[in-house]
Amino acid sequence: MAIDEFGLIEDYFGEIGAPSANLRLGIGDDGAVVELPPGQQLVVAMDTLVEGIHFPSGTAAGDIAYKALAVNLSDLAAMAAEADWFQLSLTLPTADASWLDEFARSLDAAARAYGVALIGGDTCRGPLAITVQVAGTVPTDAYLTRAGASPGDLVVVSGRLGDAGLGLACTEGRAELPSELAEACLRALNRPHPRLELVPFLRAQASAAIDLSDGLQGDLRHILRASDCGARLERDALPVNDYIRRQGAWEYALGAGDDYEICCCVPPAGRAAIAAWNTAHADCPLSVIGEITAGDYLLEYDDQRIDLATASGFRHFG
Ligand code: ADP
Ligand code: MG
Repeated sequence: MAIDEFGLIEDYFGEIGAPSANLRLGIGDDGAVVELPPGQQLVVAMDTLVEGIHFPSGTAAGDIAYKALAVNLSDLAAMAAEADWFQLSLTLPTADASWLDEFARSLDAAARAYGVALIGGDTCRGPLAITVQVAGTVPTDAYLTRAGASPGDLVVVSGRLGDAGLGLACTEGRAELPSELAEACLRALNRPHPRLELVPFLRAQASAAIDLSDGLQGDLRHILRASDCGARLERDALPVNDYIRRQGAWEYALGAGDDYEICCCVPPAGRAAIAAWNTAHADCPLSVIGEITAGDYLLEYDDQRIDLATASGFRHFG
């Protein structure tokens, strides 16, 4: 191996993240050994970020590291799993010390913030790409899926939609934002916050869930397909920033990706639990944006209805 894999792992990736109580043997052997407590199941997910495809060339190493872990943790949140450990496969064109240092520091900060341990990985030379595999636990059969929504369920999203898409538009010169909003949108794009804090709520209240990586319209459709339902969304209930609302730029909330908020379905009896959640969690607000139906997939506003199953190009609908 041209990159000195052994030294690089020791120097940068030997002790990343928070310790895992389930880990028996970590980095340094041919494999890691992990216990699974009785009555628990393992939930695993994996995502790859490739330079030039998932992030622009020149993205800061710290942002890449943070996002590579965060997008994976977001998948665990959607499954209602508690995050436990992760593996890292790093493909690097060169072993640049300052890049690796920034990458490892940010990865460690993110891993500590979300309570996960790095337990192994792989390192090789090639075009820059980062693959993370995460694992979490659920009490037996307490995981959520995309199936399970029923007509009458509320459609609920966390946080704000469209910030990441607007952040990307900003970096590409397609949008000009006031500096405070630009900062928030760039942060949403580069350092998404996986909604692991929602796991207890999801386990107690949700019938189905997905994390929003590709945009609400398409991602909610995965729930509708898996659950064999339709949905009616209220455009004006979508949680968006003032810029999107004022400009009528709803395409950012509906079609842009990378928000990593959670979209879940909650039986109507859960309305009080949503209100209680919102009282206690101002930094992770839940918005009811519509309802699961037995029929079509519609977006409603004023006296208009748009069929979301066929509509594309939301620019026309603002
Ligand atoms: P092998 O050749 O047996 O696959 P490696 O030399 O690739 O072993 O890896 C040695 C140890 O370092 C293993 O425990 C592996 O999980 C770990 N490792 C390799 N690359 C990384 C990385 N980028 N991050 C964390 N651990 C890594
Ligand atoms: Mg190897």
